[in-house]
Amino acid sequence: MKTVIFCDFDGTVTRRDVGYTMFHHFSNGKNDELMPDWKSGALSSRDCLLREAEMIHATEDEIRQYLNGFEIQDGFAEFAEHCRRSETELVIVSDGLDLYIDHLLKRDKISGFEILSNHGRVEGRRMVVEFPHKNHTCPRCGNCKGERIEEFRARHKEEYRVVFIGDGYSDVCATGVADIIFAKKDLEQYCVKSNIAYYRYHDFFDVTRQLLAWRFLSQPR
Ligand SMILES: [Mg+2]
Ligand SMILES: [Zn+2]
Repeated sequence: MKTVIFCDFDGTVTRRDVGYTMFHHFSNGKNDELMPDWKSGALSSRDCLLREAEMIHATEDEIRQYLNGFEIQDGFAEFAEHCRRSETELVIVSDGLDLYIDHLLKRDKISGFEILSNHGRVEGRRMVVEFPHKNHTCPRCGNCKGERIEEFRARHKEEYRVVFIGDGYSDVCATGVADIIFAKKDLEQYCVKSNIAYYRYHDFFDVTRQLLAWRFLSQPR
């Protein structure tokens, strides 16, 4: 059976949650007032992002400079390379913005996989957010990871084993459809509470080691 790996970005590929921290910084902490409703599900990710974007006024240069303070998680570049060599498809699936995902991956020269995220751009001192990925049923997400995984399965005749790697509430919909889940932080709490089996991990060296042990990735020669 073939394996496809879907991986969250904020707090997973990066050490910290870039979207939240960026909005927190440029809104002077005002976005915190949205978090309880977002975490409880009363405020959708889509509305949360739109409201956060309205709170900030910064130029593209100011934002890019700020973004350079964020780091990619240990072992991610090597992990992406392993996937490429093993011909295992890797998809970054994010309910955040391409604006910072593209910037950080390009900065660290990491590429070779598909990225499915929301769209953000700066016009003057204003941030514009758009949602190119439509959800059919999910009222909660901007870009629903569960729906993206189901679309992948529907597009392929062969059966795939779906591995999902994540760290937070934006990953909840993926846990219902993925076969194997790597979780930490809020996502781990959610899995425990909901009785969902998961593997704990810290960085991508852990994930790589486990996937090699299961032979879902092949050993480098
Ligand atoms: Mg995350
Ligand atoms: Zn969803």
